[in-house]
This record gives sequence, structure tokens and C-alpha cells, in this order.
Amino acid sequence: MKEVLERAYEEGLKYTDQGQVATYIPELAKEDPTKVAIAAYDQDGSYYEKGEVDQRFSIQSVSKVITYILCLEEIPAGKIQKAIGVKPTALPFNSVLDLELGGGKPRNPLVNAGAIAATALLYEKFGDQTFDKVLDKIRDLAEDPDIVLDENIYNSERSSAFTNFALFNLMVSRGNLSEDIPIQKVADAYFKACSVLVNVKDLARIGYVLANDGFDKISGQEKFSKEIARRVRTVMAMGGMYDYCGEFAQLIGLPAKSGVGGGIMTASKEGLAIATYCPGLDDHGNSFVGIKMLEAMAQELEFSIY
Ligand code: GLN
Repeated sequence: MKEVLERAYEEGLKYTDQGQVATYIPELAKEDPTKVAIAAYDQDGSYYEKGEVDQRFSIQSVSKVITYILCLEEIPAGKIQKAIGVKPTALPFNSVLDLELGGGKPRNPLVNAGAIAATALLYEKFGDQTFDKVLDKIRDLAEDPDIVLDENIYNSERSSAFTNFALFNLMVSRGNLSEDIPIQKVADAYFKACSVLVNVKDLARIGYVLANDGFDKISGQEKFSKEIARRVRTVMAMGGMYDYCGEFAQLIGLPAKSGVGGGIMTASKEGLAIATYCPGLDDHGNSFVGIKMLEAMAQELEFSIY
């Protein structure tokens, strides 16, 4: 495993000039696309890492997984099903057209509209505590108390969120979200969740919990139920890599979630979790080098769940 991971890392380094850092959130344009990291837990709990594993970056859309876990724990299932679909993603992660085609119901919880709707459900229950609940959950799952919000990224997201507000307004106008919902407050909780700083070790650790059906083998604690783990891995497989999910399923074959900060978190069903980081993105908004590293590992280890 150690050698396979190191070979994958070397392979990834060949592509650091291929991806483009996200620029639609101005603060993310400052990220360094030559920073590369990979971390993994295997089935027997051994941990492996290579590269800039302490480098912090914004979790971005990987937070959607944690928001959804929290929703499944806190909100009645019927209410979630009514507000958010569990369909595969076919269009870009912030597509207004995708939402419109669904009549204002987000396709799944791992695209922007779906995560905004999930945040709105949490807001109904937790009000202004919503972001703190998500942050606590990220810290708890990663067992990393040093995870904090990056205020600069949050402010940058907030002031450039025209498309996210379009999605929000469309959901209200189609009746999928209540007109009474305080849009700015829910949006702020969503932007903050995206602007939390993690490293690749944190993502591997969260992936490892998902890959063990919600049980954290390292701390010996059950973090969430097996049923929640199964539901979350399922939407990761179908929507976690956006409109690249089909190709990712064939090439790599693990449930996964990416973020425009450059992180990718994967979780098998059998206790294998690999996380990668490199902020250069492909056309789908997934880390270019991250996918190359995962591809290299998949070829050697044949861990596809399919
Ligand atoms: N914060 C980003 C946004 O709302 C998250 C997108 C992503 O990581 N794919 O656009």
C-alpha cells in the first residue's frame, strides 16, 4: 500500500500544470496548484500519507457530505425526501438548468442546490446555530479540534455568490423552500461550511468512518448509523463527482466527493478510504491531479466496488 500510494503521488506530480485553480471565488485563485497530497486508511486500519498532508485548504463541497449526514440524523426522512432528490448528477454542480428541470427540487444533496436546501432544513431546526453544528460535526468526524473557518474565503464566497443566490431564489419561487426562510442567513451558513479549513488527513479520516459504516475504528466510537453511511455513500457514488460521476465510477469505482478547494474524499464499503489534495481543477470542478492519483491507485489495487 505504501509503495502504491507513493507511485500514485509521483504520477500525480506529472500533472500539476494541467488543472486550473477555481477563480469564480476570488480567494481560491490564490491557491498553489503545485501542492499535492494523498492520505489513505486501508482495511486493517493502517494509515499512509505522502506530500503536503498538513496543508490546509477549504473543504468546499466535501462539506455537503457532512451537512447531509447531519440532516439524516436530525431531520425526518420524509421531509428530506420531499425537499432533495437522490438522483445522479448530469449537469455542472451549480447548474440552474438542472434545478429548473427538476421543477425546483435539487437533484441530490451533493450539488449546490441540494446542499443549500439541506442547510435550509437544518436552519429550520437550529437557526443561527446551524453553521456551528456543521463545524462541530466536521471536527468530530475528523477528530481534529484545529479545524476552523477561513474568514477570507467565507467573505470571498459571500461576495461572489450570484449563481448560488439564483439557485436559492429559484427554489423559493418554485415552492421547494418556504418564502419565510431567511435567505441571507441560510446562505451564510452554507458559505461558512464551504470555507472550513481541513487537510487531507482530515478527509481520509472522515472517509474512513464512512467506509466503516459510521464506526470510527480508531476512537472506537459509532459516529453515525450504518444506514446513514449507506445512504451517504450512495449519493456520493451518484453525485459526488458531479457530471463526471459515470467516468469516475468506471475508472476508479469508489464513492467520492470533491470540492473546488482541491480536495477529494473517497470511501469504499470495506474500510478503505483515500483522500487527495491538489487545487488545480478539471472542467468539472474536480481536482485534476487528485483524479490522476486515484486512477493510478485503482489500477494497481482494483478496489472498485462495482
Ligand atoms: N462553495 C462552492 C460553491 O458554492 C462549492 C462548490 C464546489 O466545491 N463544487 O460554489
